[in-house]
Amino acid sequence: MKLSSTRKVVWALVVILFSLFIAELPLGLHSDSSSIVEASKVDYHTTSNLNLRSGASTKHKILLTIPKGKKVDYLSKSGSWFKVKYNGKTGFVSSSYVKKAAVPAPSKTKTPAAKAATPNKVEYQTTTNLNLRAGASTKHKVLLTIPKGRKVDYVSKSGTWFKVKYSGKTGFVSSSYVKNVTAAAPSKAKAQPAPTKTAPTPKGEYQTTSNLNMRAGGSTKHKILLTIPKGKKVEYVSATGSWFQIKYSGKTGFVSSKYLTKVNAAAKPAPEVKPTHINGVLLVNKAHGLPSHYAPGENKEARAAFNQMAAASNKDGIKLTAFSTYRSYDYQKTLYTNYVKKDGQAAADRYSAKPGHSEHQTGLAFDISQTGAKNPFAESKATKWMETNAHTYGFIVRYPKGKEHITGYMYEPWHLRYLGVDLATKVYNSGKTLEEYLGVK
Ligand SMILES: [Zn+2]
Repeated sequence: MKLSSTRKVVWALVVILFSLFIAELPLGLHSDSSSIVEASKVDYHTTSNLNLRSGASTKHKILLTIPKGKKVDYLSKSGSWFKVKYNGKTGFVSSSYVKKAAVPAPSKTKTPAAKAATPNKVEYQTTTNLNLRAGASTKHKVLLTIPKGRKVDYVSKSGTWFKVKYSGKTGFVSSSYVKNVTAAAPSKAKAQPAPTKTAPTPKGEYQTTSNLNMRAGGSTKHKILLTIPKGKKVEYVSATGSWFQIKYSGKTGFVSSKYLTKVNAAAKPAPEVKPTHINGVLLVNKAHGLPSHYAPGENKEARAAFNQMAAASNKDGIKLTAFSTYRSYDYQKTLYTNYVKKDGQAAADRYSAKPGHSEHQTGLAFDISQTGAKNPFAESKATKWMETNAHTYGFIVRYPKGKEHITGYMYEPWHLRYLGVDLATKVYNSGKTLEEYLGVK
């Protein structure tokens, strides 16, 4: 039969009191110290009916609901979640709805959690938009582009490259574009599993750190009104415990404040992005962006050149359509966001640009395919024709086959960039990408 927690505590206290009166304990009793450690076990009790889940998020399956006021055995911490044992079952509960049980633990006994304090990880921050690559050189494939100012976890060094972890992915970055921002080692108090009371921070703007359910009330019991995507700004209205009443997209509702981060109004605005011209050529890629207000519309000269090219291809029995030309910053934002939702960021980054980094925003990029093509994003008679002829009308195939490690984009036979006949011919004859031709990364 199992002893109740209370009995265990009492038993432990008896052992401790006993040890105080006998200075010289027989060895056998010394080694039987497991009951003392047992007494210092951290117990929590639920402050509300609380779901025990199979994992550390509300996404995970509910195993059972623990009634309010029940004791659970703390096992470990996982963000704002606790791994606990209750009624023979092990699962996860939100740490906001448990309170440390008042156990008179012997003061000298160390808690297991304090011993488990792990060495601090080394963190770096990107000082520019930075490619995470499959290997330690620019020859290697770009896995994704880490935005400027993001933290990455340092893993190891390889020459002037760092192996790092970012967003669940491991890869390599040039160490020239990161700075060490490792925080001071956490104090022992922090290693304790005791939930820290987050003082409801005052008014202001917050940003979601994950896709976040907005609910009709301040608990997961309430109906979901909508899911706010990660990274969106919400307006603080009031706080109820760990829940915030907020305003988002014209709606008012409740969200768990754990998934919000304060938007610092005092923080200086991001430095203005300026268009990059190299030898008079406007360069837009993953490293060189455009400000959001850069909105020239479709370039007239490029359109006229396209019309000429289309007329010429007609004679060869090919009808060309420009199915996407100028795209505004906001439109690109919508496109990119949808692609990320659909395919995930790493995949989306191979074929779609982040807002401000699309060449389409220049008005000089034309996506061209055959009129009536079922899949305009495919190799076709039209794209083959363009590959050999486009430069004579001032266009280059901007993202050629096998150059993803340089351009950052997979082969896009349909995406042409207008450079004017002279330069387009020079780039074409060089066999280089625009980046290589201009001598930039
Ligand atoms: Zn394109």
